[in-house]
Amino acid sequence: MDKVIGNLNGIDFTMGETLLELSYLVAALLFVFGLKLLSHPETARKGNLWAAGGMGLAMITTLLLHKNAAGEGIPLTNVWIIMAVIGVGSALGWGIARKIKMTAMPQLVSFYNATGGAASALVALLEYPNAKTGDVGSIFVTVLGLIIGSVAFSGSMIAYGKLDGKVGDITKPFMTYLNLVLLVFTFGLGAYIIFSPNQPADMIWAIYALLAFSLIYGVMFIMPIGGADMPVVISLLNAFTGIAAAMAGFIYSNQAMILGGILVGAAGMILTILMCRAMNRSLINVIIGAFGEGGTAIAHEQGTIKEITLSDAAILLSYSKKVVIIPGYGLAAAQAQHIAHELDTVLAGKDVDVRYAIHPVAGRMPGHMNVLLAEADVPYEKLIEMDDINPDMPNVDVAIVIGANDVVNPAAYDDPGSPIFGMPIINAHLAKNIIVMKRGMGKGYAGIENYLFFNNKTRMLFGNAKDSLQKLVTEIKSI
Ligand code: NDP
Repeated sequence: MDKVIGNLNGIDFTMGETLLELSYLVAALLFVFGLKLLSHPETARKGNLWAAGGMGLAMITTLLLHKNAAGEGIPLTNVWIIMAVIGVGSALGWGIARKIKMTAMPQLVSFYNATGGAASALVALLEYPNAKTGDVGSIFVTVLGLIIGSVAFSGSMIAYGKLDGKVGDITKPFMTYLNLVLLVFTFGLGAYIIFSPNQPADMIWAIYALLAFSLIYGVMFIMPIGGADMPVVISLLNAFTGIAAAMAGFIYSNQAMILGGILVGAAGMILTILMCRAMNRSLINVIIGAFGEGGTAIAHEQGTIKEITLSDAAILLSYSKKVVIIPGYGLAAAQAQHIAHELDTVLAGKDVDVRYAIHPVAGRMPGHMNVLLAEADVPYEKLIEMDDINPDMPNVDVAIVIGANDVVNPAAYDDPGSPIFGMPIINAHLAKNIIVMKRGMGKGYAGIENYLFFNNKTRMLFGNAKDSLQKLVTEIKSI
């Protein structure tokens, strides 16, 4: 393996090195292929496996073939320790991912993000003392990896706490300025470390101070952001973790890490931008706008709530031509996806055209409804994206809102004081009839009233979504 088999630009390369680089190329191709498959719910599971295979390949070949500058491989004891750590980590990840409820998925993503950021920050922290004095390039990537990794770690932990309801929002106006000062100070200290003529060994205090400032900044950065902006924040932190991993890759000149990190960073950034567009907001507005702040909601005249009986709902649906199901967080919480699918099958048997309207931020994570409905084997062609279904909503006989609230709140159009003003919604209010299934008059994630429920065309079917759907399906079958 160590036999020199060629020379490039005056540098000899061995069989082992060539194989290692080739395996990184294959890993990179697998990452890209995996990402491509992830873009469709039908192939997403396979995409995950292909990308994980690429990562597995890169890890194994690194353990077997990596050599340091002196031509020595990784000591056997270290190989065993690394394998043990990979084994324990994989077992924990497998166990947690299998047990976690679909509704707690965003928390899990935040937690994994945090660990990715922490790993990159630790690489930077441990490798800084080995940097050569005056090697601005390598100290630059180390400092940047430390800052971004630490911010991703502490920020993701706060996001985890918020999603889990353990951490509240602190939205004081002065925090924007405080954060700006903290950010300037953190990058100032980073620049001082990069350009310092001192040896890294004499700058250990500075690198630990930088770690502390970055961790504090991560907390302060996420603390004021709240409510419905969390999905965007998670995606942004995911991008940070990717960039931090790429920096760690630069420290080790490891192509697989650099490429993997850049792919995660780019994918996270693209998703962040798409989500901002879906909410009709700029990223700056999400970060410093503190969702829910400013403006006062218009005092709507509160109409009356009208209920619908199961048999009336069953008759209305059975004799409709076009029905659109609008699922939201409540469908996930009630685990009602299978019975929702049964409803659409029963109605299809009565020649009713049933489709699902999918809002990009319905539920509690990006793609939540797609994953949930895919789990229940709802055909993908029945899932219609918001922009495609909205023009047809006035032709829809019945819109059934199942556990959705914010994503059908017309205040997004007509109430400039509402915290969700400007966010695109599914136009349930334009359908000829609206049936809303929820347990009571509970508010949605944004914590605001929804005047769709008081609309003249709306009738409420109160109860747990799963129970109500079960009874509704039985009733429809009996017609
Ligand atoms: P909402 O959170 O607005 O509303 C969910 C509704 O479901 C509640 O009003 C609740 O009313 C009802 N509900 C809860 N449990 C049940 C149940 N068992 N059976 C029937 N109904 C139930 O959900 P949406 O999907 O409309 O909107 C998502 C919100 O979450 C948006 O504001 C979005 O920005 C935010 N968000 C989205 C994320 C994402 O990535 N998708 C991540 C984090 C936040 P009641 O209590 O009366 O039953």
